[in-house]
Amino acid sequence: MKFSLLAILALAAICIVHAEDKPQTDPKAMPAPVIVKTDEEWKKLLNDEQFKVTRQQGTERPFGDIYKEFEKQGEGTYYCVCCGSELFTSKEKFHSGCGWPSFYDSSKANGVLERVDNSHGMRRVETVCKRCGAHLGHVFEGEGFKTPTDRRFCINGVALKFVAKGGAAPKLLEVESAEVQKKKDEVAKEAGEAPKK
Ligand SMILES: [Zn+2]
Repeated sequence: MKFSLLAILALAAICIVHAEDKPQTDPKAMPAPVIVKTDEEWKKLLNDEQFKVTRQQGTERPFGDIYKEFEKQGEGTYYCVCCGSELFTSKEKFHSGCGWPSFYDSSKANGVLERVDNSHGMRRVETVCKRCGAHLGHVFEGEGFKTPTDRRFCINGVALKFVAKGGAAPKLLEVESAEVQKKKDEVAKEAGEAPKK
């Protein structure tokens, strides 16, 4: 399919300029992520592009290979590439033509949080993984898409791990902080067990 330059520019504008969006969640009431890691720790788990997008609020190139793959994917579930939390399903997927994976809603698992993003001189609503704080993309609304919500979760494909229907969900990344280990030891001690080393 051929796009004229004008059409591509118009689509890019749709994808970027949405100053009127309002967050659904009060940012002050945002729960802190359960999984907290340093950049060095994340770098060991992610490739360069995944790290740039999810941990440094990057944006992948539109209409890239990941997007082409996304367009071909059938029924299934989309998980956070960082921590394995369920974020979206194919039920909420739709074709927006903007060059990034698009969903009209997040999955019923409620793994996606929304917060105001004032970077790059724009007021947008950022979407992040509730469990690990990974940057996923942005959400726009009232664009006139004929979907049940008229919202568009514009998501970076590299932030998602797709598992086709019937496949095994990825293993959830374990919370492994010194703080959590201390608590576990305390609980074990109270229960009369020797602390785990
Ligand atoms: Zn996550």
